[in-house]
Amino acid sequence: MDFLDIHTHKVATQPGVISIQSLSLTSDIFLAMPKTKPISVGLHPWFAKIDQLEPQMKYLSVVANQSNVKQVGECGLDRLRGENLENQILILEKQIELAEKIDKPLILHCVKCFSELIAIKDRLKVKVPMIIHGFNKNEGLGKQLLDKGFLLSFGITALKENSGAAKLIESTDHFFLETDDTDISIQEIYKVAAILKKCTVDELKARIFADWNKFV
Ligand SMILES: [Zn+2]
Repeated sequence: MDFLDIHTHKVATQPGVISIQSLSLTSDIFLAMPKTKPISVGLHPWFAKIDQLEPQMKYLSVVANQSNVKQVGECGLDRLRGENLENQILILEKQIELAEKIDKPLILHCVKCFSELIAIKDRLKVKVPMIIHGFNKNEGLGKQLLDKGFLLSFGITALKENSGAAKLIESTDHFFLETDDTDISIQEIYKVAAILKKCTVDELKARIFADWNKFV
């Protein structure tokens, strides 16, 4: 069974690893959009501009239909970078609308905007899976998000002993793992997570794939 890296910004070529490369339509070259390997496409909150929203959504709506596009995103909210929050919410809601229409999961970036994100999910009654990538906050917030029906993905920096992510891995069976923009290998991240989970890497791979297969 392969390793699943649910969110990376690198071009992956390793055998035995299925990685979903995340491309932002605001900065990656449109015409070079890969046609076969698994990718996610979206308007990243750092780069998305409200005055470009209409043409970019038009383009995204076409690209997102490609069968190798596994997720819409990363998209989301960031209190520290990008457009003002009001505009970021508009940009995110358009992408949620698209994900719902084509029935694909959302991969979400969220910095200091978790209550806004929860409110949007409630208000729009989002049905597609909403995966928060790179979650590295405390266990209490993680549990609150899981209760609200979000899914969480962890990278290596989150997996330190006694971190919120480490505790969440111990207390839940459903999570994803990712390399994001780090140089660490996905194998290494699985190894650390398997130790925290007190299971084998193979068991972890099987569990993560079972979850992933539910919505692809
Ligand atoms: Zn990312």
